[in-house]
Amino acid sequence: FTITGFNINTNRNMSVKNTGNDTITAKVDSLLQLMTLEEKVGQMNQYNGSWDVTGPTPKGGDAETKMEHLRKGWVGSMLTVRGAKEVRAVQKIAVEESRLGIPLIIGFDVIHGYKTLSPIPLAESASWDMEAIKRSAEVGAAEASASGINWTFAPMVDVSRDPRWGRVMEGGGEDPFLGSKIAMARVQGFQGDDLSKINTIAATAKHFAAYGFAEAGREYNKVDIGTATLYNIVLPPFKAAKEAGVRSFMNGFNELNGVPVTGSKLLLRDILKDKWDFKGFVISDWASIAELTIHGYAKDDNQAAELAAKAGVDMDMESGVYIKHLVGLVKDGTVSEEVIDDAVRRILRVKFELGLFDDPYKYCDKAREKVVVGSKENHEAVLDMAKKSIVLLKNENSLLPLKKKGQTIALIGALASDDNSPLGSWRIASDDNTAVSVLEGMKKYTDNKLIFEKGADLLTQAPTFINELNFNTSDKSGFPAAIEAAKKADVVVLVLGEHGFQSGEGRSRTNLDLPGVQQELMEKMYEVNPNVVLVLNNGRPLAIEWAANHIPAIVEAWQLGTESGNAIAQVLYGDYNPSGKLPMSFPRNVGQIPVYYNHKNTGRPIDPEPGANMVFWSHYSDVKSTPLYPFGYGLSYTNFSYSNLKLDKKNYGVSEEVKVSVNVTNTGNYDGKEVVQLYIRDLYGSLVRPVRELKGFELAALKKGETKTIQFILNKETLGFYNAEGEYVVEPGDFKVFVGGSSDAQLQDSFTLLDSKL
Ligand code: BGC
Repeated sequence: FTITGFNINTNRNMSVKNTGNDTITAKVDSLLQLMTLEEKVGQMNQYNGSWDVTGPTPKGGDAETKMEHLRKGWVGSMLTVRGAKEVRAVQKIAVEESRLGIPLIIGFDVIHGYKTLSPIPLAESASWDMEAIKRSAEVGAAEASASGINWTFAPMVDVSRDPRWGRVMEGGGEDPFLGSKIAMARVQGFQGDDLSKINTIAATAKHFAAYGFAEAGREYNKVDIGTATLYNIVLPPFKAAKEAGVRSFMNGFNELNGVPVTGSKLLLRDILKDKWDFKGFVISDWASIAELTIHGYAKDDNQAAELAAKAGVDMDMESGVYIKHLVGLVKDGTVSEEVIDDAVRRILRVKFELGLFDDPYKYCDKAREKVVVGSKENHEAVLDMAKKSIVLLKNENSLLPLKKKGQTIALIGALASDDNSPLGSWRIASDDNTAVSVLEGMKKYTDNKLIFEKGADLLTQAPTFINELNFNTSDKSGFPAAIEAAKKADVVVLVLGEHGFQSGEGRSRTNLDLPGVQQELMEKMYEVNPNVVLVLNNGRPLAIEWAANHIPAIVEAWQLGTESGNAIAQVLYGDYNPSGKLPMSFPRNVGQIPVYYNHKNTGRPIDPEPGANMVFWSHYSDVKSTPLYPFGYGLSYTNFSYSNLKLDKKNYGVSEEVKVSVNVTNTGNYDGKEVVQLYIRDLYGSLVRPVRELKGFELAALKKGETKTIQFILNKETLGFYNAEGEYVVEPGDFKVFVGGSSDAQLQDSFTLLDSKL
């Protein structure tokens, strides 16, 4: 077939449907032939459209130019336009007023939901529940797609070991294996099995690559890492996202070993497009092409456009550099038209897959938007996800769950009544103050007497998303009332932590304490009533050593989104037994960072043996090298015991499967769920292997008294590693296996791999 007369009169009636890849390839090729060079470059141009696109265009500024470009067919995508009506307005211009009528792909940061918010991604990752994580992405996709959006800039799959970096809240934590599983679940949740379905949207794996290794955790900072870390820690979740069929990649803002990744041919062309054979397209991060000049990599915007296009960035987010310079660069022979054609093919393919050529307005259905966005079903799904995200860090003397009757509870802390902060960062489409606060949630779940006192404000001014927050560091006038309440109470529930705007992009910290006067408030509460349950609200691991040493019960509740307070109340009152496990280590103090479980041995033991009195160990003289709470750690109201760890053999060939089984018993008084984790250690190799590496996990539901046998399989996909050349190798040698409920699991066995043939 040929697409002829592909213009405003015919393109909406195209008879060819999205029936398969070959058909799409043919359609893309056919359309490409109709396009001028300017129109091709137009497809590579994405504009932010955050003004009211349904009203008159503001005169004389950016918006006017953007609208003009839209009419000329010089815009392939817009971001931040939201709402069925709003998207329809810009789509109509692209489709009805541009020469070829190519529909826009509409991008948006659907990071943890659209309007009905799930927990922040790091919190979801603490669930280790891939079905729930997938479901959460489905809810985000359903709401966004009902509001005109068909492409999300998620999941962020950046592994990070540095909680100073504010964007850890957006990711899957510190581990590449867990991070890969989460990346896949999120991609599948957003994209489903058929992108042309009305409730699925294209996903983006970001930020390619190594953005999470910003030096000293300072936002946008340069990254220096070696190939072993790049291939074994940073890249695996991206590869997993690719394998799950993710349709786009976003490059990072950062420099990696001297080259800003926006201009990295090694990453974008050689690894992603050639070696991994990625067929989707690459979007730059916001203006990151133009930023090549600020980095000191390109001499001007013209060269920035050249370098990014050659490196493999297919679409320019908002910098306008492509639309200004690429046509000229092709005409003077600096950039070949093949580079442009390749980029445009990739972009058009995704538009065809989304079904935008069949019906460019399919995502702009106001009636559907009304039914889907904020539905009861979506609220239930995000509540479920929120409960699953909570991690019980400490529970001495079974202080939790709280009794439902006959107790007086003092609920203390400004965050306890906050219905905004729990929404966390990245919630552009949702309204402020729409979270259920802990206060509201707890009122619903009990006949107990509840006395609420905030104790102290967290901030001195109402927060705004784009400005630095002002913390209350001196006003303690609310302390006396809080102290009185605590004295009268059987239990003090203290809700402390970070503000929701304190993590996310641009939110690096050097201090991971409880900001403002919260530490002091906590110590005062504990002094008058030691029965304290600390509920933490935060977007990153915090250094809470004092609390860990004193407070008897600690609940990590992150920022749990719209249903936050309901989830927390259900956990505190025992209607839900927590099963979350930390996806990132909690440091004892900031000086330990990076502290992570899959570290390497040195030539010397880490930390002195007890009683040793000399200094030549790999250690700090003032604090242990271990984290405060390790990766994989989390308690339950019940207890689990592990026994009978078995391997089916002692020696294996490298292509054989190693079968591991273990018995897990619920020995406590509640039904519960346990994340059973399997770690290996490859004892010696051509590259030094970490002391432990997660290679399997299973979420096991166990009734009280019940025992289950959990089986794991290790094979060549999990027993090898990437060498310095980026080649995957499985080396013969001795391995240890550890199984348990945390990365410091003690139960262990060993086996040997005998030959090296893959
Ligand atoms: C962020 C991206 C995001 C983009 C669009 C950038 O500042 O780094 O993660 O997708 O903005 O909002």
